[in-house]
Amino acid sequence: MNFDDTPQEAAFRKQARDWIAANAPKDIEPASGNIRQSQRGDSFIAAAKSWQKKKAEGGWACLNWPKAYGGRDATPIEKVIWQQEEGDYIRLSQPFRIGEGMCGPTVIAFASEEHKRARLPKLASGEEIWCQLFSEPAGGSDLAGLRTRAERDGAGWIVNGQKIWTSGAHYSDYGLLIARTDPNLPKHKGLTMFFLDMKSPGVEVRPIKQASGEAEFNEVYFTNVRIPDHQRLGEVNAGWNVSLTTLMNERMSIGARVATGFPEMFEFCQQLMLEDGPALDNPTVKSKLATWATRTSGLKYSSYRTMSSLSKGERPGPENSIGKLVAGSMLQDIASFAMELQGAAGVLTDPQHAEAAAQFQAMFLRSPASRIAGGTDEILRNIIAERVLGLPGDIRVDKDVAFNKVAVKGK
Ligand SMILES: Cc1cc2nc3c(=O)[nH]c(=O)nc-3n(C[C@H](O)[C@H](O)[C@H](O)COP(=O)(O)OP(=O)(O)OC[C@H]3O[C@@H](n4cnc5c(N)ncnc54)[C@H](O)[C@@H]3O)c2cc1C
Repeated sequence: MNFDDTPQEAAFRKQARDWIAANAPKDIEPASGNIRQSQRGDSFIAAAKSWQKKKAEGGWACLNWPKAYGGRDATPIEKVIWQQEEGDYIRLSQPFRIGEGMCGPTVIAFASEEHKRARLPKLASGEEIWCQLFSEPAGGSDLAGLRTRAERDGAGWIVNGQKIWTSGAHYSDYGLLIARTDPNLPKHKGLTMFFLDMKSPGVEVRPIKQASGEAEFNEVYFTNVRIPDHQRLGEVNAGWNVSLTTLMNERMSIGARVATGFPEMFEFCQQLMLEDGPALDNPTVKSKLATWATRTSGLKYSSYRTMSSLSKGERPGPENSIGKLVAGSMLQDIASFAMELQGAAGVLTDPQHAEAAAQFQAMFLRSPASRIAGGTDEILRNIIAERVLGLPGDIRVDKDVAFNKVAVKGK
């Protein structure tokens, strides 16, 4: 493992840093809560689109995509370096994260050249936003259990069903949709992938209000929605394999940057006075900080291992799952302990009045999501157990049974 940039990587880092210093929006202070607070409204989407457009014009959007589709042909390690340099401005990339990291790579791998040239540059420049229509009430961790149907109709397909937890569907222009096309086949074998215009007749997006008061994800209903066959990605009934491209990219992009809350917690404790003196002199606080510091350090070196393998042109394997697994529960523990230290004031959520600008309250409300999205803790443990440690596989009794013969409750 080598932690230093190669001369080429150092030159790339300098180029990225200089460009960001010259071009990043001056009216948004990255380290303050401003970006976080404004994520709720249209003004945030407008600011995000403007930054994305600027990046595309400068050749810094969707770095590892081919240049022909709006990218830069950068190496994976250059992409990681860019993300490190972009720092807190990365929040402005949030509306495009699913499009860039998951939908785009799937379109690149499976769409016709005409569609790639029509859609991808607009995605890269922020003109069009994409969402991922995978999860359903009956298909989350067990995605292959999904029930939304797509039925042949002349030169196209008619889609009926429901998706849920679709991030950004309320402001998306296009969606990547997986649907069941043959219920007579086993569950992984009767699925097909499509992309669709989110403004198609019959698509209804209903935002889901979260505990934080925000509504970042949605239910999406399909009633007789028509999708032309040329918007099919991959072969009919081969959608599971197509989805693996999307999901592999999802794990890579989530694993690459994981928030732990530790730097914020350490800074908070450095200033905090408890009844019996400075928080940093308190044995419970010290013990917890020491544990979290050790884990943070472990995560840092695991990410260096990933970077090192990317730098050598290798692809990080399933061990990449450990970052989100450790960081997700740590984020939740840290936010919870910070609020405990704040005592009765810990219930305040208004950034104007709460301690530390209510950042731990916001972290606490958001932290469960990071333990679910992109694979729950249990699913990540299964991946590590089976594919890293080589332990026996999970029991999958319905794997080879025709989907319409799988026993379900009430049937
Ligand atoms: C913030 C956020 C954003 C999201 N954005 C999107 C999006 O844009 N598009 C999209 O398609 N989806 C999205 N999702 C959905 C997400 O992918 C699913 O929530 C996730 O895959 C879990 O599925 P589920 O909610 O159906 O839970 P379930 O799969 O029903 O799981 C319920 C519980 O059972 C456990 N469990 C399930 N299977 C096993 C097993 N085999 N072994 C052990 N334990 C198991 C789980 O760990 C969990 O604790 C998002 C979710 C969140 C929280």
